[in-house]
Amino acid sequence: MLRWLIIIIVLFLVYRFVRRHWSLKGPAAQKPPNQIQDEMVQDPVCGTYIPKRMALTVNRPGEGQTFFCSPACRDTFLAEGAGDRHQAKAKEQP
Ligand SMILES: [Zn+2]
Repeated sequence: MLRWLIIIIVLFLVYRFVRRHWSLKGPAAQKPPNQIQDEMVQDPVCGTYIPKRMALTVNRPGEGQTFFCSPACRDTFLAEGAGDRHQAKAKEQP
């Protein structure tokens, strides 16, 4: 029982030390995290959400922009889209 108490106290002291050490690293460490302004978009092929600025885009007439996480997904979409679009759409449903 006493051993656990000592372990907890030691962990607490380490935690305090680490926190103080980090806060001394300068104003950069205390700056609030950058606000994420990226809009998340969903890859229709694998269903992954990716930040818009990192996504690959395909512009197709009548459909607007479609976003993809990788060239592989884009290629899959283009291959499927060329044939049956309804099939690709059905894949989106969970
Ligand atoms: Zn994907």
